[in-house]
Amino acid sequence: MLCVSIGRGRHRHMIAEHKHLVERGARLVELRVDYINGDVNLRRLLADRPCPVIITCRRQADGGKWRGTEQQRLLLLRTAIAEGVEYVDLEDDVAGSIPRFGKTKRIVSYHDFRKTPDDLQAIHDRLAAQDPDVVKLATMANQPHDNVRMLRLLRDAKVPTIGMCMGDMGTPSRILSARYNTPFVYSTFHHERVLAPGQLSFQQMIEIYNHDRIDPQTQVFGVIGDPIGHSLSPQIQNAAFRHADLNAVYVPFRVPAENLDQFLDDARELDIRGLSVTIPHKEAVLAKLTKLDPAVKGIGAANTIVFDGEHRIGYNTDYRAAMDSLERALVPPQYEQGSLREKTVLVLGAGGAARAIAYGLKIRSAEVVVTGRTPRRAQQLAEKLECKWVDWNNRYGLTPDGIVNCTPIGMHPNVDETPYDRLHLRPYMFVFDTVYNPESTLLVKEARSQGCTVVTGVEMFIRQAALQFKLFSGVESSWEMLRDVLRRLTGPAKQ
Ligand code: NAP
Repeated sequence: MLCVSIGRGRHRHMIAEHKHLVERGARLVELRVDYINGDVNLRRLLADRPCPVIITCRRQADGGKWRGTEQQRLLLLRTAIAEGVEYVDLEDDVAGSIPRFGKTKRIVSYHDFRKTPDDLQAIHDRLAAQDPDVVKLATMANQPHDNVRMLRLLRDAKVPTIGMCMGDMGTPSRILSARYNTPFVYSTFHHERVLAPGQLSFQQMIEIYNHDRIDPQTQVFGVIGDPIGHSLSPQIQNAAFRHADLNAVYVPFRVPAENLDQFLDDARELDIRGLSVTIPHKEAVLAKLTKLDPAVKGIGAANTIVFDGEHRIGYNTDYRAAMDSLERALVPPQYEQGSLREKTVLVLGAGGAARAIAYGLKIRSAEVVVTGRTPRRAQQLAEKLECKWVDWNNRYGLTPDGIVNCTPIGMHPNVDETPYDRLHLRPYMFVFDTVYNPESTLLVKEARSQGCTVVTGVEMFIRQAALQFKLFSGVESSWEMLRDVLRRLTGPAKQ
């Protein structure tokens, strides 16, 4: 169950948000009375409450906003109990001085905004000895492994326990704790008004992570990268799981480069079945895989891992998606269906996407020419793939049959930029822009106006997401549904 925390300065706003949340399905709400400006009128807040509540009054030292004295705060908590509130939150240092009374349940809580302490179990034992109905721990995650320690604690707890790691590295613990029979999970009213670092909103928990469906049987998937906050994969893959009615959740894991090995070792304990891999791990991850798809070997990078028993199998869906998108667009009479044989293709950029696409073009017998703003990178890629390269400033010196943009030029917010001048586009050329936000980049618009065959980054993105989903679940996903989700996420209102 989700508990939604509300922190507002005015009583009437808190009451209005409470009602609004219940109308949207909330069944438990935490009223953070430390946010109220001036005197707190508990009777007013509790009078016609539309669902059970937790009364919490957090000190500033514990991340709250309480400005009164400690004596006033303890009186407020005692009054809440006397008023018969469903739950009261008592920090572990005051829990002993506030006795149990009536039906009010006691949440004995502990917070550490700097770290997840080494002695987590000892802290839990201390809280469990203070007559709690629920033990609650909220600690800062400084490394992905902190989530594992917190979830392990939940798994082994003998008393009902809520445990979450704060910060963006702690997000997995917030999403996954529902797999460990935790009594409830905290969320916030709105994602822009978080009451603790890394908190997700009620709406995000329900609409993105399908939280109401998470239980101990839920299969775990996710994406690893650093940073990870910008990734659209959680929205896309969770929508696909929901659409296919599968009991699975896809989680964003922020994993810094130095924590990759430990994270992959922890994957089994987290019960992870599959991962998408993004920057900076696509190459480094190869050393930790036990089986590689042939394309992964050729490209030297993987963007997907499937965990199968003892095996960690690496795939590259970027490569397959790019080639499928391109070949579908190349039609007779100019091309025999899908044939790139002996076509000269200029690849703009020399990063991960360029590497996957240049490899695909090469094994389809195209004449690949790589160009990049850092000559050394372009040269290295050309040497690895045994193809040509040209200096970025000389990219207009050849007359290719097609170009593929593998740079971020033209991507939101720089939508007025193009990596290839309109004057050099010819109607016989194909133009493949891997940028997907926006779909109609300046390059795409100009290529269309010149009569070129055009392939967009959205085509590739949808295909790679569908291929990953198939590898994860064995199920085909609906392209239309994936396209709709992507368009909603990258549509004009979101830019
Ligand atoms: P990457 O590894 O960081 O490579 C980016 C490449 O672009 C590098 O060669 C970089 O040059 C070059 N570059 C960056 N800014 C440039 C500029 N202003 N002028 C000239 N060159 C520039 O990134 P990636 O993973 O290959 O991704 C590249 C793009 O591909 C992304 O922005 C994304 O839009 C697209 N992509 C799309 C999909 C899809 O499914 N549609 C999938 C993956 C990627 P340096 O080497 O000098 O830094």
